[in-house]
Amino acid sequence: MKYIFVTGGVVSSLGKGITASALGTLLENRGLKVALQKFDPYLNLDPGTMSPYQHGEVYVLDDGAETDLDLGHYERFTSTKLTRKNNTTSGQVYQQVLDNERKGVYLGKTVQVIPHVTDEIQRRIQVLADDAKVDVIITEVGGTTGDIEGLPFLEAIREFALDAGPHNVCFIHVTYVPFIKAAGELKTKPTQQSVAKLREIGITPHILVCRCEQPLDLELRKKVSMFCSVPQEAVVEHKDVEHSIYEVPLMLQRERLDDLVCRTLNLTVPQPNMAHWQEIIRKLIAPQHRVRIGVVGKYIELQDAYKSVYESIIHGGVANDCGVEIVKLDAEDIEKDGADKILKGLGGILVPGGFGERGIEGKILAAKFARENKVPYLGLCLGMQIATIEFGRHVLGLKGAHSTEFDPNTPHPVIALLDEQREVTQKGGTMRLGAQPCQLVMGSKAQLLYGAFVVNERHRHRYEFNNDYRQRYEDAGFTFSGTSTDGKLVELIELKDHPFFVASQFHPEFMSKPNSPHPLFRGFIAATHQHQHNKPL
Ligand code: GLN
Repeated sequence: MKYIFVTGGVVSSLGKGITASALGTLLENRGLKVALQKFDPYLNLDPGTMSPYQHGEVYVLDDGAETDLDLGHYERFTSTKLTRKNNTTSGQVYQQVLDNERKGVYLGKTVQVIPHVTDEIQRRIQVLADDAKVDVIITEVGGTTGDIEGLPFLEAIREFALDAGPHNVCFIHVTYVPFIKAAGELKTKPTQQSVAKLREIGITPHILVCRCEQPLDLELRKKVSMFCSVPQEAVVEHKDVEHSIYEVPLMLQRERLDDLVCRTLNLTVPQPNMAHWQEIIRKLIAPQHRVRIGVVGKYIELQDAYKSVYESIIHGGVANDCGVEIVKLDAEDIEKDGADKILKGLGGILVPGGFGERGIEGKILAAKFARENKVPYLGLCLGMQIATIEFGRHVLGLKGAHSTEFDPNTPHPVIALLDEQREVTQKGGTMRLGAQPCQLVMGSKAQLLYGAFVVNERHRHRYEFNNDYRQRYEDAGFTFSGTSTDGKLVELIELKDHPFFVASQFHPEFMSKPNSPHPLFRGFIAATHQHQHNKPL
């Protein structure tokens, strides 16, 4: 078993997750089996309780784990199978250590960060190694080198490397080489200091991946190499990509990152065949068609809050050889300025998941606009609940129809708490979470798109369609095209007499990849093109 550890220096948001994932793509295409894992130094047990302002999207796995959004990159870039074992937080580590202490596992010893916390971190690498049956495990250490919280993780991987032996571990440090405008120069000092911090702990990186906005010339590479004690050829340039994050594997391949890693780990494997990946990039850079999609949310100013949704839209575009311009729209602006003004001219409208009341009425107006003007609509989780409320109010005449999440006293609770949620008081990890089967109605749009009758999709919600209203909705042309296998929970809705109005209680965005775009996104983009250009693809 070979181990790659990816650490980060200087600043956060360097795209460590994408670097780790892109390396995963390259190694998989060289015929290796790869698993990816993330360590997050914060004390929350998982990011499920964190606000999007703090953390960005919460990515949900099949087993219901609420994880860091980097795991979304791992799934999109590789075929690695992820479970809750692939995301470890300090909170989980400490919880385990404290449980052990209460059980007397430490036999009267003083429980300490070293060795007890660091041992628990190493155990988690080992558990994955034993379970995953892969050739290489890539572990990304969250945070920035020098953070107090991150120290136990760095100490743990140092110790781990000692036991694993030479040529079994490769340390990659992703760092930043800023361009100082006034000097007209790239500066290497922050990188030198960050590597010095790592070396203080006892880790000398084998490879430096230098994020930069300008090319890293030979002189600079020499300088970084000398000051950081990394061979010159192992100083890798990682410039900002021009069009898409999916270019990163190809760019890092040009910089021979995968060769360097294979050499460090004594792996003799063929060069990667990236032809299919190049075709994806071609469709991203020079697509045959183009559409504009409006995403109506409340965290639109944040890059990461709807990460998987944006990626899935792009994948849907790839499936149709169609470039997508994503227009990020604030639901509250629709409340202020009206749907006509804000939504006019879009090929399609997407309402993603969400919690809390802010912006809800704007989203309802967006669903109404899409329904009445026959604009393709894709609703995801909250987006399905919104479509239900809208239809109840404006088609069925259910005055004040709402979800009890937003109006507990609504006369028409068309969306209400799931039965299993009624007694729940704890917030963390208690929603309906993870993959569950959904049965599709033959001949429905969704069924035709999936080309299957039962699909597994991931969930993260507490509220659901209220079955007391099912008949009334159905009679008015609101179709329930997918339910749980016992028929009780509504999973998918569609409108009759509409070119594409589909919404799911689950989150299809967690199951889409550039090389296997999700069927619902594929269908949505195709319908969008038809609407915007008045001709099919
Ligand atoms: N707030 C809604 C619920 O809990 C929708 C959740 C979501 O969109 N993920 O049911």
